[in-house]
Amino acid sequence: MSTNRRFLLARRPAGIPVADDFVLSEEALPDLTDGQFLIRNRYASLDPAIRGWMDDAPSYMPPIPLGSPVRASTVGEVTASKSADFPVGTWVAGLNAIEEYSVGAAGGFTQAIDVSIVPSPTNFLSILGAVGMTAYFGYLRACEPKPGDTVLVTGAAGAVGSLVGQIAKLNGAARVIGIAGGPEKCARLIQRYGFDAAIDYRGKDVAALSAAIAAEAPNGVDVIFENVGGDVLDAGLNNLAMHARIGLCGLISEYNNPGEKTGARNVWQLIVKRATMRGLLVADYVPDFPTGITAMAGWLREGKLVFDEHVDQGIENALPAFLRLFSGTNDGKMILALGTEA
Ligand code: NAP
Repeated sequence: MSTNRRFLLARRPAGIPVADDFVLSEEALPDLTDGQFLIRNRYASLDPAIRGWMDDAPSYMPPIPLGSPVRASTVGEVTASKSADFPVGTWVAGLNAIEEYSVGAAGGFTQAIDVSIVPSPTNFLSILGAVGMTAYFGYLRACEPKPGDTVLVTGAAGAVGSLVGQIAKLNGAARVIGIAGGPEKCARLIQRYGFDAAIDYRGKDVAALSAAIAAEAPNGVDVIFENVGGDVLDAGLNNLAMHARIGLCGLISEYNNPGEKTGARNVWQLIVKRATMRGLLVADYVPDFPTGITAMAGWLREGKLVFDEHVDQGIENALPAFLRLFSGTNDGKMILALGTEA
């Protein structure tokens, strides 16, 4: 291949992204300078956070510049190199973009990976990547779990949530309740991921959802792993046990709100229950990733953990694949294959 197809951000989306917000460009392959290497990206990770990076708003990362490819984690293979540390043929994972080729440099975010230890290189974007580490450190560190806790996971059937539920059980939680959209996902929570109870949030207002949580956790919940925000978070806040801990991981129900954010309206309950709500960001745990990867890989080998990946094909399908995250039509970690040919 002598050209590089790139999925560029053409304008900032207002609400749910639409086709006119992007351009699929075809460009010449970049030249390399000393220390650089060319990565043939095989897979891109489609993460809800990307939607936030498209906005011109303060965040933990700068907005994606207009005219630049959409930022994403990728895994791929080095196909040309002027770096002794990354020879041709090395598989790498890093924060790059939705494009067929990226330029990497030693000392950057890109790391060599050993794809021989996993069934698929995609696993470095799911269970052994940021998603797995978010679940592992987000739950075990930010939520400060205690044996016997009753745990509520929102966005529970998704990539992060499904792992959090399993880690909670492995770590000694007494009861793990998941909230997800639709009867099929709720069945999967119990049958595949081992949750004790599942609640379908669709069609329920805050009062109905609060009552559904109360029915499953009559003494309240000790931990909430929050991925959704809005009404779902408000219902969780109505069901806190004393000294509850809330790990605020994501607010996906609010990412496409063009105007004011919904926000949590029941924060008064933090005072009533002397509870703690803590924001968490996976990037803070990068130095400890080897510990998390070893633990997750161990549970996988022992058959104690399952995970799912949803792989769509082709850079031309980047937008519909990304939008699955917001319609809930992804079954597992959302990944885009950018071509697997040599
Ligand atoms: P995911 O859960 O695999 O996919 C997103 C899911 O969110 C959808 O399948 C859908 O499931 C649900 N959803 C979408 N819109 C919703 C809405 N309006 N109300 C309720 N649920 C909705 O994605 P993920 O990668 O695992 O990410 C999950 C959350 O973790 C996101 O909020 C993300 O931003 C956050 N995250 C945070 C960090 C961090 O470092 N803080 C790192 C990674 C991810 P249903 O069909 O069940 O609705």
